[in-house]
Amino acid sequence: MSWEANVRKVVPYTPGEQPGGKHIVKLNTNECPYPPAPAVEKMLKEESYEDLRLYPAPDAGNLVEALASYHGVKKEQVFAGVGSDDVISMAFLTFFNSSKPVFFPDVTYSFYPVWADVYKIPYETKMLDKDFRLVKEDYVTENGGIIIPNPNAPTGLLEPLENIEYIVKNNPESIVIIDEAYVDFAGEGASALPLISRYDNLLVIRTFSKSRALAGLRIGYAVGNERLIKFLNDVKYSINSYTLGRPSLLLGEASIKDDDYFKQTRDKIISTRERLKKDLSALGFTFGDSKSNFIFATHEKYRAKEIFEHLKIEGIYVRYFNSPRIDDHLRITVGTDEEADILVKALDKYMKEAGV
Ligand code: PMP
Repeated sequence: MSWEANVRKVVPYTPGEQPGGKHIVKLNTNECPYPPAPAVEKMLKEESYEDLRLYPAPDAGNLVEALASYHGVKKEQVFAGVGSDDVISMAFLTFFNSSKPVFFPDVTYSFYPVWADVYKIPYETKMLDKDFRLVKEDYVTENGGIIIPNPNAPTGLLEPLENIEYIVKNNPESIVIIDEAYVDFAGEGASALPLISRYDNLLVIRTFSKSRALAGLRIGYAVGNERLIKFLNDVKYSINSYTLGRPSLLLGEASIKDDDYFKQTRDKIISTRERLKKDLSALGFTFGDSKSNFIFATHEKYRAKEIFEHLKIEGIYVRYFNSPRIDDHLRITVGTDEEADILVKALDKYMKEAGV
């Protein structure tokens, strides 16, 4: 017998490409096109090189406190991790420990089934309707937990808070996780955070990778009631006590405290998104009303895969998923206005040349 029988074999998640080169228009991984807050740059210069010999605070104390005060909750209600991927993975391991299946939409963040597989958690996907909308009633049969991104990825669609509340309220025996990676682009009243004080089964997960322009640092966090956060910490301390490094803790705190800059960049992205919607419509693309920092578009006449490949040759990277129901779509990250100009020009040229 070979050792191979004992190996945990998984089909891994495929992250978006991170191409090198200066002249690339990178609209494929929903990063922020603007730099992080000036307060982050200042802190980066002050960051002590000598202190790097020391371990970071295992409880991510300063960052957790800054987040607690930002959201108006207790520090015991916040859990920080290495990107929201790390936080979601910990949450799967902690809260989805039942023989009943975990529910999530069929068209959603493609990492969810991967975590379920690696941790051997049974799961069942629930079909979105033909407009990629959640069917909330599908989530009220017996389950071992629920995870829903809101806005959803890769569709960019926001589910009204009352539908989220319906699912949380009707599942008192399971943990419902709302993955709010893109909620900062969704306007007032979109977040499920205000529900946390009313429902003890709700965990909200956020990231610094999109609206805070800190994908390179890897910071994510969860907010929930004290019990949920304690359970998460118990699992984290059973795997790796020191997750976030010292620079992440310091720079993450600086980002949270620079709220003016945060709001400015978020608003710029929202305004480019609305302008890009008009430009893409004019080119004949159709899409749902994105409330995130990307647009999930399809075209009746041109194949998404071909557009994707053509744009890549032009140095413009967007995301294409060769998956059921969405293989005729492109997910286009909202960049700067200049990047939108370059994209629209390239699409227009492609269509004229293809001449369908
Ligand atoms: N959730 C969703 C829905 C996402 O699209 C992403 C980005 N790939 C993440 C979580 C993870 O983001 P990060 O680990 O950078 O915080």
